[in-house]
Amino acid sequence: MGLTGLEIYKHLPKTNCKDCGSPTCLAFAMALASGKASLDACPHVTDEAKEALDSASAPPIKMVKVGTGDQVVELGEETEIFRHDKRFFHPTGVAVLISDTEDVAAKAEIFDALEFHRVGMDYTTDMVAVKCDSGDAAKFKAAVEAVAGKTQKAMILICEDPSVMEGALDVVADRKPLVCAATSDNYEKMVELAKGKGCPLVVKGKDLNETAELVEKVVALDYKELVLDSGARETSKVLADLTQFRRLAVRKKFRPFGYPTIAFTAKEDPREEVIQAGVYLSKYADVVVLKACEKQQLLPLLSWRQNLYTDPQKPIAVEAKLYDVGEPNEESPVYVTTNFSLTYFIVEGEVESSRIPSRILSVDTGGVSVLTAYADNKFSAETIAEAIKLCNLEEKVKHRKLVLPGHVAVLKGALEEESGWEVTVGPREASGITKFAKDNFA
Ligand code: SF4
Repeated sequence: MGLTGLEIYKHLPKTNCKDCGSPTCLAFAMALASGKASLDACPHVTDEAKEALDSASAPPIKMVKVGTGDQVVELGEETEIFRHDKRFFHPTGVAVLISDTEDVAAKAEIFDALEFHRVGMDYTTDMVAVKCDSGDAAKFKAAVEAVAGKTQKAMILICEDPSVMEGALDVVADRKPLVCAATSDNYEKMVELAKGKGCPLVVKGKDLNETAELVEKVVALDYKELVLDSGARETSKVLADLTQFRRLAVRKKFRPFGYPTIAFTAKEDPREEVIQAGVYLSKYADVVVLKACEKQQLLPLLSWRQNLYTDPQKPIAVEAKLYDVGEPNEESPVYVTTNFSLTYFIVEGEVESSRIPSRILSVDTGGVSVLTAYADNKFSAETIAEAIKLCNLEEKVKHRKLVLPGHVAVLKGALEEESGWEVTVGPREASGITKFAKDNFA
């Protein structure tokens, strides 16, 4: 459990010199206790005090890295239970599972080719997990070799037999895979293997209590690059365990649970499996391992991850400017919308579907949607007229006509007056744009 502000204060110099940026040592101690300051900020603290305060200044959940170079996946170092309190920092690693009893190379190739583009961002799965189902050391080693030859992404090696793990780990140790897993039966040998190669290690108990005890035994062997698995595989139990890991680590600073977590899906139907993975990704798995490997299966999961790990205080925005859709000319229509990326890309998709080359004027609304921006006076006759001038729209089209979102039809008169442009009210929903375009501009 973490120290209170007063307990921390006892170890500080009590000179109130302000060098740490806090007005007093007590204020600094309080900030340290709540995780809002780092002990490094006080240059006068003694080595003895540093040692005593280590647990208070360490993040509630340790960061553990899997992989190397560009493909490294950072796990943990989360500080919140609820995203809206601040934000979540390190997106859940999504790992595709490959068994050494299936066509390893073929699935690894499909995995490596997975790429997605959504709301102006590119993203992909980031980890591949190779599992020993054969029980055959040579087969497992060959499978790990085959996967490593097909993808550079971070790897997880799954096998609870240290003698089988050893050979496979030798092949890819320089890529720092996650070794899975140390159990109460094998932990000494598994720690020796993982520690010897400098690889992170999954600690797997049969329940929360055994996991905590096992972590303490592994830490006593002087190894702390750990990832937690409570051993549960039933959805509600996994969710409950993941929640306890996060709560006890963040709220109580319970050190045995101060590590990232891993969860495995158990459903066989790909749709159910993706839903199960989505539950774990939402609360609070740092790695989720699933068998599904098709683009259409993974897209919803990765889209959800992308939403969950954005900063809730910063809307996702595109650059506010004039965009071309197709190859527009001087007569092409001009649609007006906001620079909220979700709105923009939906409008762009519908305009593209009309197959009529067009322009979209994205107005700077601070990344909020049409109605929100209108309510806040950020999407008004004045801001739209200003955007027309900023992007020199008059030089790019001969006509003086704009299409305004139907939701803000009320702006038509004021915008015509402010800009001197003729305003046509478009559909209220973007889904109506294609028909609107064909009816008006085909
Ligand atoms: Fe106290 Fe250290 Fe801050 Fe000075 S720098 S006020 S000694 S905590």
